[in-house]
Order: sequence, then C-alpha cells, then structure tokens
Amino acid sequence: MQVYFNALANCLGHAGRRIGACVIDLLYPPDCALCGVRLHGHHSLCEACAGDLPRIVEPFCQTCGMTYQGIIDHAFECPNCSGLSFAFEFARPAMHKDTGTLDLIHQLKYQRSLHLAHELGKLAAESFQNDPRLAIALAEKWPLIPVPLHRSRLIHRHFNQAEEIALGISHQTGLPVIPALRRTRDTGTQTRLSRKQRMKNLQGSFEISKAGENLIGKNPHGVVLIDDVLTTGSTVNECAKTLSREGIRKVVVVTVMRG
Ligand SMILES: [Zn+2]
Ligand SMILES: [Zn+2]
Repeated sequence: MQVYFNALANCLGHAGRRIGACVIDLLYPPDCALCGVRLHGHHSLCEACAGDLPRIVEPFCQTCGMTYQGIIDHAFECPNCSGLSFAFEFARPAMHKDTGTLDLIHQLKYQRSLHLAHELGKLAAESFQNDPRLAIALAEKWPLIPVPLHRSRLIHRHFNQAEEIALGISHQTGLPVIPALRRTRDTGTQTRLSRKQRMKNLQGSFEISKAGENLIGKNPHGVVLIDDVLTTGSTVNECAKTLSREGIRKVVVVTVMRG
C-alpha cells in the first residue's frame, strides 16, 4: 500500500492536468507493459524485459548515436552526419530503434500510460552512466530542457512526453528539469518530410519561456535537451539554435531512442 501512497504523492506533486492520467495508472493492475507478467512494487517493466531492450553501445556516430555494423575501433561520424553542422554538440540516444522500446513510447504518448515515462527516463538516464561526454553535465548540474509541445497538442495529450521523460531522468541523476523553451506554432507531423523540409518547417518555431529567461540569467555553462526519439535531429537542432542565440554555450541532447 505504501507504494501506492508514494506513487500518488509523486503524481500529485506535478501539474493538475496530469492527475487524471495518474489515477488511471493507479487503478490498473501493475503488470509488465511488454510481457504482461504481474509485478510487485511500483514498476512498469519486469527485469527480463527491461534487460532485453537493446542499448546503443560503442562504436556509434559521435554526432547522432547511429551504430556501425562492422568492425571499427575509433570514434566516427556516420554518413548522415558527415558534412552537416548542428547547433548541438552531440546527441546521445540510449536505445536502438526496436519494437519493444517503440511500443513503450507509443503506450506513453497515445495510450497515456504516464507511469512509463519513469521507466523510459530510467533507460535514457543510463547514457549519463555510460557516456563519458555526459560526465560534465552531472558534475556541473546542467539543467534538463524538454523539447516542448505546442499548446494545441498539449490540450489533446494532457502532458508533454519529453517533460515526463525528463522528470524520470531527473529522478535518476538529480539534474533539475527546466521547461526553458516554448513552441510558437504547431509544426504538424513531420514523419513524411525530408530533413531539408523538416528544417524549413521548424524554422523559428521555438522561443525562450519565462523559466528559460531565468535560466539564461544564471549564465549556465551547458544544458541537456531531452526528447523521446531522435530521428533526423532537425527538432533538437532548432531548439539548440534558439538556446545558442540566447548565449547558452553548450547544448547536448539525450533521447530514449534513435529513430
Ligand atoms: Zn516483462
Ligand atoms: Zn550520425
């Protein structure tokens, strides 16, 4: 019972719009979100399923985390990234594109299984332990900045999955979550657009929020952008541009999955 009280206390600690989804989570039996086995305690994945999800390990592209199929023993940049310049230093997805991870992300976004954000945040937080490039973010307590949703989508979904995942990462790392960005317009779904079309579509679609202005006033050395999936990197690049323009010196990206 204590577990449920803790979970309820956690849920109620966040914005009121999340409460409905929270109660739904608490009413359903706590089965593993992937295999359905009955769980004890406040978990959404059994140990076997969590362990089986494929992590990205070296060697991978130092810019986007894409892995290399073959033998390579040095840091490399993949063909998608070579010759391109990004406003972020690097993006580090934790997981490969895989049906299990994708299923969890879809359950979170489209079935409003909010409890999965904690589990996905835990998976994404593994990058902070495994990637030495993120040690500075931990040491200097860089804030986690979720990629924002436009207000119209937020009304529909009730929560921003990137913010919920960031809260999960924060729980593991102790880094603060600061919603420093705002979307100025709805850029629609980008799945059918090429990289070039995405970049054009996203241009000028983010601005600094009130919380972001406070953050910039403190002159942080760096920040960590958080999103669920990294596909072409266009969205996080536009976010990074917006932050760099305001004087943030280093922007790195952490996502749950490489799309
Ligand atoms: Zn399972
Ligand atoms: Zn790459």
